[in-house]
Amino acid sequence: MWDAAKCDLCGDCLINCRYVDYDKNKAVSDIKLLREGKAADILDSCITCNACFQYCPTGADPANLIYKMQEKIGTGPIIATFKHFIDGVTRAFEQGSKDAQVIEGDPDKPALSFDSFLFKQFPEGTLESMMFKGMTVVRGRRYASLVGMAHMGGESLAARYGQKVIEGLAELGKDIVYLHNEGYVLAHVKARELGIAVPYKYMHLFEYLRDYLKNNQNDITRLNKKVAYQPNCAVRWIPEQDVWLQEIFELIGVERVSRKYEGLNALCCGGPAMGVNMELALNIQNDNIKDAMDNRAEAMITICPMCDYVLRGQTSKAGLPQVFITDLCRMAIGEVSWPVS
Ligand code: SF4
Ligand code: SF4
Repeated sequence: MWDAAKCDLCGDCLINCRYVDYDKNKAVSDIKLLREGKAADILDSCITCNACFQYCPTGADPANLIYKMQEKIGTGPIIATFKHFIDGVTRAFEQGSKDAQVIEGDPDKPALSFDSFLFKQFPEGTLESMMFKGMTVVRGRRYASLVGMAHMGGESLAARYGQKVIEGLAELGKDIVYLHNEGYVLAHVKARELGIAVPYKYMHLFEYLRDYLKNNQNDITRLNKKVAYQPNCAVRWIPEQDVWLQEIFELIGVERVSRKYEGLNALCCGGPAMGVNMELALNIQNDNIKDAMDNRAEAMITICPMCDYVLRGQTSKAGLPQVFITDLCRMAIGEVSWPVS
């Protein structure tokens, strides 16, 4: 969450932003304007990649300042593109969203939260996997993390309705496994910032998969593949997920290739950029895919259905298989075959 007291106007956030070409003067000038509650050019150029959250050396969280100001000023391509959607989500919460789907599982197993995603946005057969057998499964607006609304001019939605979402999950009376990063971010990062109590145990999908694979090592056939990893923007808030992912890769015999666009330098999937500048979005995707292939990755691993959707066209054109993380694990336990390029 933006903390003006931590900002010393060094400008590093916007100097390092890959999607504008700012020198120190311009960076400092824009941050000063935003701090004063005024519009600045970055509001129209920012593709909401979240990277400046990590570029800031003092923890001031400039990305959050930008998202707040995009919503407040209310202009710019992101706001215009998604206004209708954000209005719909707001109405749903104000009117008491009934949009919830619950598939009851075994009483002693945790619940798997799909956030507000549709089941069909995940790979076919995900719900039938042995990895998730017997789990209660939930999805719908009532369980929406709301964290991703910052990409669409709805930064305030997590603060306004996050409590309702946490209460909805608490009513299940179960431990929660978050299938999407942003659900985990709401519970683990935003709830703390907003003073919302989380009255249940929860874990990230990667922790769950790692534990499942550790407990079922006899079922694993090592894949012996090299892959590139496409994180989604929310991982900037939870860098610890990278350790869990590495543990999964080691358990199933997958090597993450070393490449230019990983870690701090990871590129956005291009999704939010499509609402700002389509040419830029396609250039980001092509640079990303070329980097993966130049470094001999045999597949691009995704962890977010939106990243998976917006990248698939370009990876397919380039002949680089794209595999969702749950399917990668299913390949290791023999439920799914490695894709044909
Ligand atoms: S969120 Fe990403 S695109 Fe926006 S200013 Fe920060 S680094 Fe640049
Ligand atoms: S938000 Fe952080 S990186 Fe940006 S100017 Fe302030 S201290 Fe520097």
